[in-house]
Amino acid sequence: MSRRPLPADRALSPATLLIHEAEARSGYGEMSEAMFLTSGFAYDTMEAAEARFDGRDPGFIYSRFSNPTVATFEKRMIALEGAEAGRATASGMAAVTAAMLCQLNAGDHVVAARALFGSCRYVVEDLCPRFGIASTLVDGADLAQWRAAIRPETKVLFLESPTNPTLEVYDIAAVAAIAHDAGARLVVDNVFATPILQKPLALGADVVVYSATKHIDGQGRVLGGMVLGSEKFIMDHLHTFLRQTGPSLSPFNAWTLAKGLETLSLRVERAQATAGRIADVLAEHPKITKLTYCGRADHPQAELIRKQMKGGGTLVTFRVGDDKAAAFRFGNALEIIKISNNLGDAKSILTHPATTTHQRLSPEARAEMGVVDATLRLSVGLEDPDDLIEDILRALETV
Ligand SMILES: *Cc1c(COP(=O)(O)O)cnc(C)c1O
Repeated sequence: MSRRPLPADRALSPATLLIHEAEARSGYGEMSEAMFLTSGFAYDTMEAAEARFDGRDPGFIYSRFSNPTVATFEKRMIALEGAEAGRATASGMAAVTAAMLCQLNAGDHVVAARALFGSCRYVVEDLCPRFGIASTLVDGADLAQWRAAIRPETKVLFLESPTNPTLEVYDIAAVAAIAHDAGARLVVDNVFATPILQKPLALGADVVVYSATKHIDGQGRVLGGMVLGSEKFIMDHLHTFLRQTGPSLSPFNAWTLAKGLETLSLRVERAQATAGRIADVLAEHPKITKLTYCGRADHPQAELIRKQMKGGGTLVTFRVGDDKAAAFRFGNALEIIKISNNLGDAKSILTHPATTTHQRLSPEARAEMGVVDATLRLSVGLEDPDDLIEDILRALETV
């Protein structure tokens, strides 16, 4: 391995770190990172194997534990987030499940905001209780509800901000303070904001989790996840849990994600600029009955957004007309924007949450979250903004 180190006497910006952090070249001096698609590693001697296992030689042992390509992705994510440590996982849900279960025991209690990504809600509401970990769901915007839900055995508070799909924003610093007063940790799912636009650890959160499947890959290719926090949290809780239970990121996916990071800030900035333009067009349109975009002054939490986010992000949520028929007619009339349930892709994606991602919830539970039959979520991609606006305006004509 040859390496010319990055300058150590000045802080580099994310755009630079995402391209150059953790560069490790093999003897061939390749420019693009090599992919170490290997499950195991060979030792020159029996003594070398012994030293690797007893920790005297800190090299790789087995790709369930760690792998050079996965390590490159992890180091870039750690540098971007400004975290002390982090571990990659096979998917966003593997990251969420590991971040929760690695630190919880039977008898503990979790408080979470009700407006969670569906599978995250399953982990808190269904999975944790099966192992004797009680949970309480609260309205994430209501700090009094967070405080009232705390019990002596509360160990973890969990939220996602902005939320899926209604783009509510919660006060991360305030909820972190409530957690710390109770001797608990705050875990934040930062997928919608991306690590470019929001830094939960700097706001006081203890652990941040990502589905790297979304903006970090950014081209809809692979699944992946990441958990970041203090060195102590990772070593005391996460490290052994991941090693022994095995939700490991494949080196191929890690390579894809590390290459995705090189363009992350460019992509997020471009998609965000387009999302802002689309939101402004939709806000003025007579067939749009409600519009939520985190970058607009009419967002109910605009002041909080200015405090904790660097921009409005790449998602726009709106209601077309007032029923499912209008929402479906609009979606079916789109010619460029795709109908899918993913997000953070180069391709713009329209989702009807009530019949797809949130179908499992009762109509009452959906209504409680602000998801009605007319609600649509648009993940803005990298196409030409004028082409997207034209696609949307033409489709609205059919409603
Ligand atoms: C997609 C997503 C997840 C789950 O990630 P996977 O990579 O699909 O497992 C978790 N939280 C949020 C907010 C998401 O959007």
